[in-house]
Amino acid sequence: MKTAQVFGDKIVTKEVENIKLNGRKGAIVKVLGCGLCGSDIVKFREKIVKDGAVLGHEIVAIIEDIDSETDFKKGDRIVSSHHIPCGECIYCKHGNVSMCEHFKSTNIFPGGFSELVYVSEEHLKNVAYLVPENITDEVISFYEPLGCCVRAIKRCNLIESDKVLVVGLGSIGLLMSEGIKAMGFKVYGCDLIPERIELANSMGIEAYSSLNLEEFNKLIQEKSSGIDAVFMTSGADKALDVALKVVRKGGKILVFSSTPKNTGYPNNEIYYKELTVLGSYSPSPKDLRDSFELLISGKVNVKNLTTTYSIDDVQQAFEDTISNKIFKAYIKM
Ligand SMILES: [Zn+2]
Ligand SMILES: [Zn+2]
Repeated sequence: MKTAQVFGDKIVTKEVENIKLNGRKGAIVKVLGCGLCGSDIVKFREKIVKDGAVLGHEIVAIIEDIDSETDFKKGDRIVSSHHIPCGECIYCKHGNVSMCEHFKSTNIFPGGFSELVYVSEEHLKNVAYLVPENITDEVISFYEPLGCCVRAIKRCNLIESDKVLVVGLGSIGLLMSEGIKAMGFKVYGCDLIPERIELANSMGIEAYSSLNLEEFNKLIQEKSSGIDAVFMTSGADKALDVALKVVRKGGKILVFSSTPKNTGYPNNEIYYKELTVLGSYSPSPKDLRDSFELLISGKVNVKNLTTTYSIDDVQQAFEDTISNKIFKAYIKM
């Protein structure tokens, strides 16, 4: 089977021996496609993974071989996430499932950028779904990333009339905006790149240039007390300045990206404006189920977001994502 493996600052296609169930419960799936996640980019760029690692986790696949107590059968087209929380540890009990040790230790094997992948019985039972025929592979490949967004939105405990600003309109910012809209809240977006602002507006997300923030602020403040929650999907230094400028007194800042260096802790703003700052990382099985439903009901629009690459061009897909040439890469097997 073909796999795309990391070697230093290169990603190389390698032929390896087919994986088999070998008496294990679960399924061997033939990957149809796998989305390229921002976390894959961070792992590759920051050299967090060892040589030979296979990245990718946003898979859509067909079951090739299965031994399972679930209803899944050979030939089913499924979508699966990669981590499962234990549900019992201190982190799980407090809703921080992505901090759970079991969550971190579970994964699909060897990774999504591979022709064949082993999906364990635990995955099949908790985070895998049968994809309806009318839903395309590309659309359902947003199952896990949208799950991350759903979780972030829920963590903010928004109320009906709340207005949200998403800072950064890359693929995850647009997906977050779509999620916020679908879950019933008013969403605005801002970015520096004109093409992104244009695409957001064409998707029905009222988007502004981060350079004209004063104007945006005036507009918001004429109508209300300000932005109730700011979602930082961009790790740029300026994102925090933007957030602090637009968030209303008592509002929330949701941190959804890493930054190359710590930007500093805005002590006085948090104190005097009584702000709530929250981080949100990875989704729970329930968030994933909500994401699955938002996608198959068509409430979240992910059309025009993906650019397709073959497994031999994974390196190119990474480069094009890093240079902002594309929004979201989808690796088709
Ligand atoms: Zn992901
Ligand atoms: Zn746990």
